[in-house]
Amino acid sequence: MSPRREILATDDPTVLTDAAGSLSDRGQFEGEAAFEVGIRPKHLADFVGQQQLREKLQIILEAARRRGQPVDHVLFAGPPGLGKTTLAGILACEMGAGLRITSGPALVRSGDVAAILTDLQPGDVLFIDEIHRMGRAVEELLYPAMEDFQLDIVLGRGPTARSIRLDLPKFTLVGATTRTGLITGPLRDRFGIVARLELYSDGELEMIVHRTGELFGVELTPGGASEIARRSRGTPRLAIRLLRRVRDFVEVRGSGVITEEAAREGLTVFGVDGLGLDGIDRHILEVLCVRFSGRPVGLSTLAVSVGEEPETVEDVYEPFLLQAGLIMRTPRGRVAAPNAYEHLGLPIPAQSLSFLAASDPDQSALASSRASRGSGAVQDVLFASGADGEACTEDS
Ligand code: ADP
Repeated sequence: MSPRREILATDDPTVLTDAAGSLSDRGQFEGEAAFEVGIRPKHLADFVGQQQLREKLQIILEAARRRGQPVDHVLFAGPPGLGKTTLAGILACEMGAGLRITSGPALVRSGDVAAILTDLQPGDVLFIDEIHRMGRAVEELLYPAMEDFQLDIVLGRGPTARSIRLDLPKFTLVGATTRTGLITGPLRDRFGIVARLELYSDGELEMIVHRTGELFGVELTPGGASEIARRSRGTPRLAIRLLRRVRDFVEVRGSGVITEEAAREGLTVFGVDGLGLDGIDRHILEVLCVRFSGRPVGLSTLAVSVGEEPETVEDVYEPFLLQAGLIMRTPRGRVAAPNAYEHLGLPIPAQSLSFLAASDPDQSALASSRASRGSGAVQDVLFASGADGEACTEDS
């Protein structure tokens, strides 16, 4: 197999730049990608969490090594920042193979992917981020490439056009998507493993913060690491980003050591609250709790209200808000859960209670007990825009 190469393909999929190039996704700041290259775990043993998935990958890696063949194609699904790109790199590294990185939006015409496929070395791992966004023609070209390692190319146009079939080296395709639902059946069926990455526990994030702190050479107390982990919304990329901000804070305003108190102060300065919610998260909750007074709100309406794309709200913000029990998805739209009112220090509107009673008995009981305890007393108040005529029906 070829020596390990790590290459990023960004705007032009046929031009492969080196790993210092910038690859961005909606959850990632510009420039962060280049920085991340240096801190990504290179071996499965260093990859924290995702226990079941790690076990499956260990088995397929060992089996592939014993057979002397590339690993089967793998599809990773899940919100941004959970380690999909990192795992693709680990598969390449563990197999001693090269890694090629490109993304769905950069693959529009069949020529885009043909150029990459014909340039692969035996055993290479080809990582396609946001694979659900690649063009239809590209997807069709990938079917025989994934199944039989063959590439069908059409030469010429019209009646004189002819098709030739090229042999490709055996390679592993690793796809990543934030939207499993947008992957077509035929493409999905061609992956040997389809795995969903889950949000991380606070304990797992704490380990990632410690590991990254060591790589940065920053002094970190256990309390400091756990404070950062607790506010990282289950997402390693966010944990690392918050660690960098707190490191800046303690270097400029503190003693250079990240203690629990310093982490708390630093994160407050950067607008991250006790649950790890940032400005947009809180805006989403305020729209649901105040603007729509607890009534169900459709995804598009919610997205317009907070000035984001519906996809961004669904992929980046919602997963944690749902997991933290702050919002609920109902057939009629998104609804604030009792925890959201408590977090914002707001009373629960009566109409929210009646909606919860009709759609979710558990949440309804929680809301009633909160109200009777006096935290978030039930109010029969129509908030500012509850009656502004905006549609509250589900639109996605
Ligand atoms: P995705 O491709 O899902 O958006 P990445 O693989 O780019 O996420 O991961 C984002 C950052 O988080 C990287 O810097 C990576 O090193 C780190 N990271 C993600 N998952 C883990 C993990 N399980 N253990 C350690 N670091 C991780």
